[in-house]
Amino acid sequence: MKTGFVGLGAMGAHMARSLHRAGLLAGAWNRTPAKTAALAAETGCTAFDAPPALARACECVVLCVSADADVLGVVDALLPGARPGLLVIDCSTVSAATAREAAQRLAQVGAEFVDAPVSGGVEGARQATLAVMAGGTPEAFARAKPVLATMGRTITHMGPTGYGQATKATNQILCAGHIQAAAEAMAFAKHEGLPLDRVIETLGQGAGSSWYFVNRAPNMVRDDYPAGFRVRLHEKDLKIAREMAERHGVHLPLIEMTLLHYRRLIEAGHGDEDISTLFRLKDAMFGGGRE
Ligand code: NAP
Repeated sequence: MKTGFVGLGAMGAHMARSLHRAGLLAGAWNRTPAKTAALAAETGCTAFDAPPALARACECVVLCVSADADVLGVVDALLPGARPGLLVIDCSTVSAATAREAAQRLAQVGAEFVDAPVSGGVEGARQATLAVMAGGTPEAFARAKPVLATMGRTITHMGPTGYGQATKATNQILCAGHIQAAAEAMAFAKHEGLPLDRVIETLGQGAGSSWYFVNRAPNMVRDDYPAGFRVRLHEKDLKIAREMAERHGVHLPLIEMTLLHYRRLIEAGHGDEDISTLFRLKDAMFGGGRE
């Protein structure tokens, strides 16, 4: 399937390269044209100068842009070039409502839409090992799957349009809980004077362990939080989850507390660190420093 790519950012540039390796990448468009030119020079794909031209030339368009308004803006920009049968796959993390709105706008010209947010970070995008959670009709998903399979290792159809994004929001709530637990437990252990490396080694094998505890508690021991999953990005994702919970009339304590903590971290200049920087706040509750 001749595929075009929109949004050559930290994730999208790697995902577009995966499509190229599979022989599917026809061309790309990026808001900042230098990135399109660089990809075209590297892969030989076409550098489109506007979204409608890309839509006209392709059977499938993959998007990976930033937030809700950006997805809808790009969908609107594709519409003049869209036609019945065009498949648009959105890999950005946005709300389920935005996915449904995008699907509706594309359906007016007979084009299909699949929401397909990804998990696995920039590393997963580079190695084409992303976990993809998709929403859409079974027919649209069947068309999207081979395209998504070039970029990810696990491609799962979760249900109708929006279900991919709802699954991604669920994942972001899990991440909030795991990082809260790991940071709080590590601050407690530190101020109990425990040998922290041995705590991670031992409890990492136990029932209270998590991916975050095993992989991110070492950051807390070293007091160094190199950009992995940036605070700013998780904040954006948790705001989406909050908005979705509010539609049920519910305020989830884990989301509210974590957003409050992230605000404090961002204001203190830690917004571009990995979310394990949350340890700073937990440590400070005990007075910080060494025991
Ligand atoms: P990024 O590096 O900031 O890249 C964003 C891309 O979207 C850029 O190419 C940008 O164009 C384009 N863009 C933004 N707004 C646009 C608009 N209104 N119109 C046209 N293009 C627009 O972000 P990223 O880290 O690749 O993340 C992309 C998406 O994947 C986000 O929804 C994010 O939540 C999700 N995600 C990220 C990660 C991660 O670890 N980074 C993991 C999973 C999911 P310019 O080049 O012109 O700025």
